[in-house]
Amino acid sequence: MTQPAAKRRISIFGATGSIGDSTLSILRLNPKAYDVVALTGSGNIKALAEAAREFNAEIAVTADDVRLGELKEALAGTGIEAAAGAQAIEDAASRPADWIMSAIVGAAGLPPGLKALEQGTTLALANKESLVTAGPLLLDTARRHNATILPVDSEHSAIFQALNGENIDTVERVIITASGGAFRDWPLDDIAKATPEQASSHPNWNMGQRITIDSASMFNKALELIETREFFGVQPDQIEVLIHPESLIHAMVGFCDKGLLAHVGPHDMRHAIGYALGYPNRPDLPLERLDLAKIGQLTFQAPDMARYPALELARRVMEIHGLAGAVFNGAKEAALDGFISRQIGFNDMVRVVGNVIELMSGEGLGNAAITLDSVREADQMARKHAVQSMAALKL
Ligand code: NAD
Ligand code: MG
Repeated sequence: MTQPAAKRRISIFGATGSIGDSTLSILRLNPKAYDVVALTGSGNIKALAEAAREFNAEIAVTADDVRLGELKEALAGTGIEAAAGAQAIEDAASRPADWIMSAIVGAAGLPPGLKALEQGTTLALANKESLVTAGPLLLDTARRHNATILPVDSEHSAIFQALNGENIDTVERVIITASGGAFRDWPLDDIAKATPEQASSHPNWNMGQRITIDSASMFNKALELIETREFFGVQPDQIEVLIHPESLIHAMVGFCDKGLLAHVGPHDMRHAIGYALGYPNRPDLPLERLDLAKIGQLTFQAPDMARYPALELARRVMEIHGLAGAVFNGAKEAALDGFISRQIGFNDMVRVVGNVIELMSGEGLGNAAITLDSVREADQMARKHAVQSMAALKL
């Protein structure tokens, strides 16, 4: 008698967000193949409880301590455990699972990501901030515990796919594409006056608000430059950004024979999530089949640095290296909060982050050891300086 195939144990950190929701939709294609272990969220208790009920999760965790009672109530009678707080999220990442999606937004994704790697599992990494703030720590933790990290960011999934079977030593350059964001065609003077609402709509992708605004400012691409360097170990001068308004080529890898391998796919994150879930096999996904004859043409432009100064900042961060990524991300998160709450204007974000990097660049950032503590400290300090810099801008 044949034994039924063992179910894969799956956890999703950031299950209520855009990536989390897309991950759940992929599981829904074949729900009998999975046992859902932990699902986490923060403010949206209803969505978290609904997903936990639908997938009969072992545990649901909200980052928001004060919402525990509400979560317990929403799960009453199901036998699903409920927990709350940052520590509970970390603890949930230690629950044995075969595949863990890291889709919390921001630096808060790092501690559970590390805990997941410590159990030697496969971590599907959407949370680019983990690599930006603590790339060497993340990769070293994976190595020491024999864990695997699979990139989920579309550009990095594309690079990973193009590198499959290739020798990394033959790579000359890596090109990541950018749509240009919400303000690609806006006059520069208008961008300075842009509101959070205007920055929160993306021409091609449907994503969480924070990454959508980061796409308009190109901070998202700046993070991705650093993410590329950390994950693939290529040198900063080997990484290029190319504006590609159609967002159909996600990345290209250029080899020493001058050939380029481009990854072309629909702008739908379910492709990269499905690839990471199926890896090393390709899953059958119900996504749009691209009709290139109908699309007609794919276009490319060099990024205009006057429009996207965040890209220059990323180059500076890569030059300093060490804890500069944690400082960059911490300052960026604080400045983004400042913009969303209308304390500062759109172009002030890059000013604030630039100020913080220059202020802290004398503090031995490049040589510091990268530990969870040192990353947290750099992150906190950067946020503090960013708040001061924002206050100074208003004077
Ligand atoms: P989102 O805002 O839609 O969802 C974020 C998730 O994180 C939610 O589940 C939220 O509850 C949770 N969360 C927020 N703050 C938290 C905290 N302090 N502690 C614990 N949980 C918290 O974001 P998203 O668009 O799904 O993006 C998630 C991550 O994936 C980000 O790092 C983003 O850069 C990356 N990413 C997203 C996309 C995309 O298409 N959305 C593409 C590539 C990479
Ligand atoms: Mg991306």
